[in-house]
Amino acid sequence: MTEPRQIVGSSKKPRRITAAAEAGAHALTYHGGRLIQNAEVTTIYFGPQWKSDLLKVQLDMFFDFVLTSSLIDQLAEYSSNGMTIGHGSHVASFVLETDPGPTVDNAQVQDLLGQLIAGGSVPAPNANSLYFVFLPSGTTVTLGQDASCQQFCGFHDVTPDGIVYAVDPYDDCAGCQFAPGDLLASTTVVASHELCEAITDPELDAWFDDANGEEIGDLCETAPPKVISAAGTLDAPVAVTYSVGVSPSSIVADGTTPVTLAVTLTPAGTPPPPPPPPSPGGQAWTVQKEWSNAKGACV
Ligand SMILES: [Zn+2]
Repeated sequence: MTEPRQIVGSSKKPRRITAAAEAGAHALTYHGGRLIQNAEVTTIYFGPQWKSDLLKVQLDMFFDFVLTSSLIDQLAEYSSNGMTIGHGSHVASFVLETDPGPTVDNAQVQDLLGQLIAGGSVPAPNANSLYFVFLPSGTTVTLGQDASCQQFCGFHDVTPDGIVYAVDPYDDCAGCQFAPGDLLASTTVVASHELCEAITDPELDAWFDDANGEEIGDLCETAPPKVISAAGTLDAPVAVTYSVGVSPSSIVADGTTPVTLAVTLTPAGTPPPPPPPPSPGGQAWTVQKEWSNAKGACV
């Protein structure tokens, strides 16, 4: 049996990946499975609460943007077996006005997806289809013994019929604050993680790390997020370089001429949300960095 893959809330279960480990120890290996070449994303908002939630509008805008963004461009290195990963589209958005109640299990999500597809509420699946199910505040999703906001903050999976989907509980819980105080950014960090993993490993048999089973997003979930917009990408935190001039009189050593020291200062601790880059093309979005085999780093 194949387990769904999860994103773990770092505040609940920290797994620090050091810079040295990132640089040397990881690589994604291709295992022969299919990829999603041009993702056709349907967003599904489960619960009547979503009808009046601004986050729904923002998330639909996020998917409108991100599927043709640099985040998708950087996945092209994982094109394999004649399958080319390229831009996708956000094809549909649907609010299911049934209240999910306090707990929904993954098996119920699969049943629900089947019903929505059979009833024509959402587009029928093809090889590019990817369904994102967002749960409302106060609803926990369970995966066997594991629960959202306790052991994970989102996951992607595939049904026995080959329908690929991701589930994202409402990221207002303490365990899923990837951008503290910024619900939208925390949600798009999780959504971008699952999006990139679902594209590169939709049936859990394509790209993952043989050493630990981790996928493209898992290897980078402790890296600081980045901000993307139509204008470009900004890393966070920003390392600031200062040039420090030292006068000869303060040099004790051999008395030779002025010395210039370059000092790089990086903010300690959890970085604040970065400012968006100049964005004539529209809104900026906070996303998770993803592992690049080509660069040997989270980018
Ligand atoms: Zn993951």
